[in-house]
Amino acid sequence: MRRRKSPALRDRAMTAEETAARGRIRRERRWLLGWAATLGPALWVAARAADCEIALAGVALVWTIGIALAAGRLMFARCPRCGQLFHSSNGAPSVTKLFASRCGQCGMRLKPERVIYPSLE
Ligand SMILES: [Zn+2]
Repeated sequence: MRRRKSPALRDRAMTAEETAARGRIRRERRWLLGWAATLGPALWVAARAADCEIALAGVALVWTIGIALAAGRLMFARCPRCGQLFHSSNGAPSVTKLFASRCGQCGMRLKPERVIYPSLE
């Protein structure tokens, strides 16, 4: 039987490239949330400012493209440790796990681990 390492042991040896890649995934996640959160206010402002439906449709189109591009970038983000898709557990791109906190393949955490001093373990 193969014994699994604890998450603290797995994340102990974090390289600078892995840290940068985790930051990039978090940044892409914030872009997706930003596009989704500002869709409603942007449509409201467009409806109030311009009294034509073409402007409203243009804003909706731009925001839809922004959400789709951000979701696509996040969906195809690679794990810096194992090189597989970060938000997939079976290797196929998935939109259902875009906000998972761990890699679906190797279990690497997206957020940095807390520092645990050896004397406290
Ligand atoms: Zn991984």
